[in-house]
Amino acid sequence: MKSYRKELWFNTHSRYEFVHITREVQEAVRESGIREGLCLVNAMHITASVFINDNESGLHRDYMEWLEKLAPFSEKGYHHNGGEDNGDAHLKRQIMGREVVIAVTDGKLDLGPWEAVFYGEFDGRRRKRVLVKIIGE
Ligand code: ZN
Repeated sequence: MKSYRKELWFNTHSRYEFVHITREVQEAVRESGIREGLCLVNAMHITASVFINDNESGLHRDYMEWLEKLAPFSEKGYHHNGGEDNGDAHLKRQIMGREVVIAVTDGKLDLGPWEAVFYGEFDGRRRKRVLVKIIGE
């Protein structure tokens, strides 16, 4: 069995942002040389997510508005916000998830027709990373 590890780095311009990363993840699969296996993609920070859904801007606005209703930004409104102001970001990350696992078939990500991979940033404007780990043959 082969394994391959790669980090993808991000530094978003805004506090909240969704970044389409399907191409970067597919590139990691190509670099790995693995034809059949599994690809794990996870955020390495507790205020960011990796998720799979439609690459459609209206849906992304809907997600952001929904998340803002569930866990609105508030400097003083969270117990966590003693020395920090990112209590909302921890909750948003939990809702959108930490990681995805994608089957690798014939050297490609075996995604459904409308599935795309995204990095979800909820406390951006600093360098953060995503781990890609691929195992297989
Ligand atoms: Zn925090």
